[in-house]
Parts: sequence; C-alpha cells; structure tokens
Amino acid sequence: MGNPKRFKNTFLCYSSKVNQRGFAHVAILLFIVMIGVGIGVIVLLQKDTLPYQSEISTEPTPTTISESPPTPTEVMAHEDQDSDEVVYHTVDTTALPLGDDKYASSPQKGYVYTCMNTFNGGGAFTQGPWIDTQTNTWDLTQKVSVDGTVSWPNASWSISSDGTTRTLAGNDLPTYHTTGTYPISSTDDAYNYDRNPNAISKQSLSLSLPTNPTIAANPQCVGGEVGIMLSGVLIFSAFDAGGRDAVATEVQDSCQGHPQESGYYHYHGWSSCLQDDHAEGEHSDLVGYAFDGFGIYGLKGEQGVEISSEDLDECHGHTHFIEWDGISKEMYHYHMTQDFPYSVSCFKGEPVTKALSSNQSGQGPGNNLPPNGPPPPPR
Ligand SMILES: [Zn+2]
Ligand SMILES: [Zn+2]
Repeated sequence: MGNPKRFKNTFLCYSSKVNQRGFAHVAILLFIVMIGVGIGVIVLLQKDTLPYQSEISTEPTPTTISESPPTPTEVMAHEDQDSDEVVYHTVDTTALPLGDDKYASSPQKGYVYTCMNTFNGGGAFTQGPWIDTQTNTWDLTQKVSVDGTVSWPNASWSISSDGTTRTLAGNDLPTYHTTGTYPISSTDDAYNYDRNPNAISKQSLSLSLPTNPTIAANPQCVGGEVGIMLSGVLIFSAFDAGGRDAVATEVQDSCQGHPQESGYYHYHGWSSCLQDDHAEGEHSDLVGYAFDGFGIYGLKGEQGVEISSEDLDECHGHTHFIEWDGISKEMYHYHMTQDFPYSVSCFKGEPVTKALSSNQSGQGPGNNLPPNGPPPPPR
C-alpha cells in the first residue's frame, strides 16, 4: 500500500515553514502534495491488482472441472503452496519397482485392473541380471535389448476424423522407426534371457474412437492391448502372458517393441522411439490413443516435469488443460511413465474394444479361455 511514511515526512517538512511564509503559499503546497499522494496511491493499487487478475483469468481452478469430481486418489496436482511450480515424485530408472503380479480385479492405483483371470506361460524364460529379486526392483539402464535395425517400408497408418468419430487404421508395423530382428537370434545377447520365437507380421487394424470421450461411471478392466500409438503400433498392458512385469522381464528391441504369437508387434511401456517433440518446460505431446478415445501423452507432465505413476490415478491418468485437436481443453488423459504400470491400467472411458489381437487364431501358449470370454493373455 505505497509508502505513507515518506509522504507524511514531506508534509511535516512543509508544515515547519508555516511561520516563515504566507499561509496561502502553504495551502497551495499542501494541495500539490495531496494530489501527489492521490496519484501515488492509484499507481500502487494498479501495481498490486494487475498480476493477480491475470493469474485468475489464465489459471484453471478446481471448480471449473466439468467431468466427475476427482476422488481423493485422483488428486495429483502437487503444486507447491508458495509457488506455481509443479512437483512430481521422482522416478529412479536404476531401481524401478517390479510389477510382477500387480494386477487387481478392481481399479487400484499402481496396479493393472485386468479382465484376465488366468496368466499361464509365455514371456522371457529367465530373469536378467538387471532384476534385483532382493529389493524387487529392476534397473532400466542395465537392461539388454534385441539387436537389429529392420525397416518396414510397407507400414501403413492413417488417422481421420469427422468431428465425432476418429478413425485409426493401419497394419501395426512401425511407420517411423525400425525394429529388432525377430525371432531372436541365438547369437543375440538377448537370447540368454528371452527366446522370443515369433516373427513380426503385418496385421489389419481399424478403430473408431470417440473424438471427445467422456469419463464412464466406472473404470473398465483392460485386456491384452490398451491402445495404439501414433507410430502405428499397438500398446499392450504392463503384463506378459505369465502376469509378470513385461517391461522388466521380457527383452524388447531398442524401440521397446516385440512380436507376440500372431506376429503383432507391440510395446508394453514407453518407447524411446516415439516422437515427443514438446518444448523445454512444456507438457509432453500426444503419443497415442487408448481404446476409450482418451489421449496417451509422453513422460512429461505439466511444466515439462517427468511424471510418475504415484502422481496419476488408478487408470494412470489425470485431468488438466491439454492441447486436444488443436484446442486447449481441460480433459482427462493418460500418461506414459518409466515406472509400473507404465501406461493405461484401466479404461476411464468406455472402450470400443479390449483386444484386437484376440480376433486372430494361433495365440500359442496361454490361450485356454472360452471363445467369448476375456481376451487371451498377451505375450
Ligand atoms: Zn498431463
Ligand atoms: Zn509383449
């Protein structure tokens, strides 16, 4: 509120001259001083109120969330009380929690809410030295990958929208990155841990997703796949066919992908080959779509800070302003994280499908489910 002390001193200084000068002179001076004080107060008031008003107009407040109100487990905006800086939990890629058997039959934060009732077989045949069974953690920086740089010139992928439906079509081959050589060669160091005998093959994918999905009354369980990434490649849940942490135990290529029994190439977690070209200090880009139509974004949350599963809800997502079809919009979205469960762990909206690959025959070991039952386990 300005500096009243300074003005007061000025006034007293002039007052002391009252006995030496004419009274009219002092009155004029007093008038000038009072105008000065008035201007000063106006300037200071504007200085104090302007930034406050601009914050109110640009910053989303919790009361503007139009979707269902967040439950306590969904509160994840860890904003410091004294600043606007976003603080997320740190992810240590040298000691990531092992997600083996962390599946649940209802939505649960940090778990995959799976539709599957059996997990039997498939995946890597032995645990690599990057897994620490004592601490139940694994070291991403020490994990091996499948060799090879195979190009897929026949990869196809298209996205179109009519305003209500977004149509995704492709053949599951990566459009802008190479893959490893599959089946895994016996000369590959990866062969010591994972002898994936499957070859990558072309598939036929077609999805019609809502362009503006809404949150369902209850989250839905996930099947084998959870969505499709903008590289044109499917993303499966965090598990291998044995209900183990697929990202930790299976050996994928340098783009973190591998094929399952029917030749579907897929990721289980973050692919370092996905294009996420967000600017420094900015939220990650959209990198894929979940089967309920909600977007899947990269590793960085608000202000470009890497986000962890701890900062997300039971389905691995959260709500804030994002760029959606070219418009800034406050809406729910999923994030990829470096820690389990890595991607979508239940569907927040109504999924259009729960498993595309289950329509195919030849699932290999693990498929003992009835024809119309839950989708078969992924590899
Ligand atoms: Zn976000
Ligand atoms: Zn897999």
